[in-house]
Amino acid sequence: MKKSGVMVPTLLGRLTKKPVTVLYPYEKLDPAPGLRGKMKFDAEKCIGCGLCAKDCPSGACVMKDMGGEKERPVFDLDRCSFCAQCEETCPKDAIEMTQEYELAHFKPGEAIVL
Ligand code: SF4
Ligand code: SF4
Repeated sequence: MKKSGVMVPTLLGRLTKKPVTVLYPYEKLDPAPGLRGKMKFDAEKCIGCGLCAKDCPSGACVMKDMGGEKERPVFDLDRCSFCAQCEETCPKDAIEMTQEYELAHFKPGEAIVL
């Protein structure tokens, strides 16, 4: 443990420096480069091949009949590990991981990406 005489200069030095934290959620920092957040799905590009659901390691991406001509993926963010495998797998670039990270919600099933 440091003696108080040693700590005082350190404490005084801190008083003149900017805090390293911010008052989230009132202040926000830009996400770090490469951060993987909520995915964006482009139904126009999707051909319904199902590869994204096949490769999803956590069962977050499943193919569903949404009333269109073909099945399409639906993403449950409660199960998602944000690994971006679906984005990498998709042969049509229909899935894109965004940097949207504020995904808090109250009930299971409320964070679905359609
Ligand atoms: S990011 Fe990973 S866990 Fe989430 S839906 Fe895509 S493949 Fe599944
Ligand atoms: S891998 Fe791409 S094209 Fe195939 S179903 Fe998934 S989103 Fe659609």
